[in-house]
Amino acid sequence: MAATVTIDASALRRAVRHIVLAGGSNEREAALVADNLVLANLSGHDSHGVGMLPAYILAVVEKRLKINAAPAVLADHGAILNLDGNMGYGQVIGHDAMELGIRRARETGVCIVSLRNSHHIGRIGHWGEQCAAAGLLSTHYVNVVGRTPLVAPHGGSDARFATNPYCCAIPATEPDGEPVVLDMATSKIAMGKVRVAMNKGEQVAPDTLIDAKGTPTTEPRTMFDAPTGAILAFGGHKGYGLAVIAELLAGAFTGGVTMHEGSWASGTITNNMFSVIVDPAKLGGGETWRREVAAFVDYVKASPPSPQNDAPGSNGVLVAGEPERQMRRARLAAGIPVDATTWGEIVRAGESVGIAASETHAAAGI
Ligand code: NAD
Repeated sequence: MAATVTIDASALRRAVRHIVLAGGSNEREAALVADNLVLANLSGHDSHGVGMLPAYILAVVEKRLKINAAPAVLADHGAILNLDGNMGYGQVIGHDAMELGIRRARETGVCIVSLRNSHHIGRIGHWGEQCAAAGLLSTHYVNVVGRTPLVAPHGGSDARFATNPYCCAIPATEPDGEPVVLDMATSKIAMGKVRVAMNKGEQVAPDTLIDAKGTPTTEPRTMFDAPTGAILAFGGHKGYGLAVIAELLAGAFTGGVTMHEGSWASGTITNNMFSVIVDPAKLGGGETWRREVAAFVDYVKASPPSPQNDAPGSNGVLVAGEPERQMRRARLAAGIPVDATTWGEIVRAGESVGIAASETHAAAGI
């Protein structure tokens, strides 16, 4: 097989659905998981796309991920919902948790969704986009437990927490407009990108990693060969500060767990999420937010492109969420590249739940 296979988005969705169904999930669950993972690939975030499926199926087989689970409402305080994800598929738990929060925010103007104990909820922008599509603004703070720490605290020399993502989504100002969606890990680089650099025999950029002694290194192997090193937080003490806030809001206040000795023992990737969903029309600006958001975005984007061709943003100014939408258009047209290693793992995941390799290939149209 070629080093990379290119698969049409709808065919890739069909192949993923088929495998998730074979794992015992119902039709709705299989569709939500497939749609979510393929949208991550379409958005250019392969680290949170179909490449996650083998880990999910293994967790299903080992009964660490509970199929056909729904979020349990532990407490309903009106504008605050306390939910437990029951270690269900994060693609379903995240979706249903946001639906509950959206419904409540429409009634009360705001809803804090306190979600604990979900299996991996993937790309957090997905949840911001779901709220934005409902016309609501939202912020989401997430921590990651169940696996060993990856990121060092500013001034520290070993890993103490994970890549704790943060997302804020501003709804579109017009019915056919696009939201602003800032969705990012608080680490300088995603772990998936360190693995890619290692597999290609490349070095990572300076000031990204430290080795097990806390010494700066550009060698990606430091994250894989014991004793392992750590990734740095983005933006020095500021990114580190945001990672700590995400850890505490999502891990401590939801009734979940924070990263500390022993809390990663399960080996199963677990997310907790603290979300605030707000109806913008109920805030002091009423409907003027539409004018102000549009005016600001237009003003910022009118900045002349950087004269340095290799500088970030040298093709012109974008706002958060645009790179993902540009990638979606390109990959919808040209197909989604999946590297042969990842595709092989997906095929083997299918076999582990009784789907022959030929069936997975046929579903994907390759
Ligand atoms: P990234 O660095 O690719 O993008 C971060 C943000 O910057 C995005 O909102 C993007 O739209 C914006 N952006 C990118 N280029 C831009 C430009 N030129 N101009 C303006 N804005 C630009 O993302 P990342 O930090 O590598 O995170 C990748 C994904 O990993 C995210 O979807 C995140 O939610 C996910 N994640 C999930 C978990 C989990 O446990 N579930 C953990 C960590 C990260």
